[in-house]
Amino acid sequence: MTTERAPRAAEVICPGCGAAGVRAVPEVCADRTAMRDGLADRLARTPEVASRFDGWLHFLEGMVMVGVGVALAYSGVESRKPLYTIGGSLLAVLLLVGTIVVVRGEGRDRALVTAGEPRADALWRSAYYCPGCASVFCAGGTPWQGLLTPEQFKKLVWTEAGYAKQLEERFEDVDLPPGTTTGPPGSRDHA
Ligand SMILES: [Zn+2]
Repeated sequence: MTTERAPRAAEVICPGCGAAGVRAVPEVCADRTAMRDGLADRLARTPEVASRFDGWLHFLEGMVMVGVGVALAYSGVESRKPLYTIGGSLLAVLLLVGTIVVVRGEGRDRALVTAGEPRADALWRSAYYCPGCASVFCAGGTPWQGLLTPEQFKKLVWTEAGYAKQLEERFEDVDLPPGTTTGPPGSRDHA
């Protein structure tokens, strides 16, 4: 694996408007102001996923709710109120199924993001953002070439990394100029 050192942002000129003062995309995404403006999100490397810890938390929350259903059903048995028993049992089953679906979905999302991360990182890490004309590019045209809007850039990174389904609906209308990626041969075959 060869990772060429990206040129420092100060030495990079925007190929779109010729302005200096472009910023490396990872730097923009780490910037709190950019987070507030939504720019960091528009240039995000990967979809946001619930952490393993959050997953456990959601599981525990679900189980507490299931416990409430079970308690209700039990109180129905004790006080001979079949409606409580049926309602409580139904609630417990629904919450159990719902919790499993949610937690498994989060696990799948985490696995998907992890699997695509090296590819996403390769395309994202060497990109620059020009605040002057709001475009994204790579110095020297590698690993991808051309001048993209933040939306096109996100679509490129997420599609290449296998996160295309995670893109919001508005990205359906975002088209990438042909010949943007010049990835290593075969890198697109496994998609
Ligand atoms: Zn520019």
